[in-house]
Amino acid sequence: MLNLSDVTHVYANGTRALDGVTLSIPRGMYGLLGPNGAGKSTLMRTIATLQTPTEGAIRFGDIDVIREPEKLRRTLGYLPQDFGVYPRVSAYDMLDHMAVLKGVWSPADRRTTVETLLQQTNLWDVRKKALAGFSGGMRQRFGIAQALIGNPELIIVDEPTAGLDPEERNRFLNLLAEIGESVVVILSTHIVEDVSDLCHRMAVLADGRVQLEGPPLELIHSTRGRIWMKTVERAELPACRERYEVLSTRLFAGRTVIHVLADGDPGNGFAPVDAGLQDVYFSTLAQSRRAA
Ligand code: ADP
Repeated sequence: MLNLSDVTHVYANGTRALDGVTLSIPRGMYGLLGPNGAGKSTLMRTIATLQTPTEGAIRFGDIDVIREPEKLRRTLGYLPQDFGVYPRVSAYDMLDHMAVLKGVWSPADRRTTVETLLQQTNLWDVRKKALAGFSGGMRQRFGIAQALIGNPELIIVDEPTAGLDPEERNRFLNLLAEIGESVVVILSTHIVEDVSDLCHRMAVLADGRVQLEGPPLELIHSTRGRIWMKTVERAELPACRERYEVLSTRLFAGRTVIHVLADGDPGNGFAPVDAGLQDVYFSTLAQSRRAA
């Protein structure tokens, strides 16, 4: 279990990127959903011990993450948002090199580790290919392979599906789901489907604060009866936005389907809809904007 209590981070320029974040993250896949600028990367880097929060405490099992960062690093796998340079080195050699850096000294152990990871991430057939020539999906799978060296108990992946095509995304998410059965995996994303497809629990982060937390299905349930839809002409949209809390707009057969948030029937031709996680997410963001 990873526990964060009252984690706050203020950058030198005064930006309060995290503001009293308290979360308990159990084993399994955990989704951290939030728009750009919400503070997700700051939180991921803080948990990964790459930066120290201004205030607050973080514990992973019996490790005090802020006081004993080196202990956490031994059991951490981190796939940052920007994995950086992709040299003209083969996947096999790079992974072997990274295994050395992570302390897998024995050549025999290293060979087993590297070969197992290349197979697990479906990169075995391209193990001799230079990383520089890898596709986006292959890079992300390589990123997971390096994050898994040394059997980490805590894995952090920051916006991993951005830029992947649907097939690569699917393959990548399946790989994460397999890993997530036995360890804590935190998936930070602004893509709602990543969370709805994979995560048993989730939090919505906006303005550096946790706006909502729980199992996706329960959160969807709690929004029931408050989401309404109507098909409108495009020209009607501005008036709708003035009158209602419009959560989303989607084109369908040349017309626009809008979802709005309202505690009771807005009348005027609106029909109730079964809320999805997207409605939950957008209504949470709308409420946090209203509160700001
Ligand atoms: P996210 O990953 O959700 O997009 P970030 O953690 O990157 O959010 O950013 C949260 C806020 O902190 C944003 O307002 C961003 O501009 C600001 N921020 C991020 N990194 C720095 C930094 N090094 N210095 C100053 N402000 C930063």
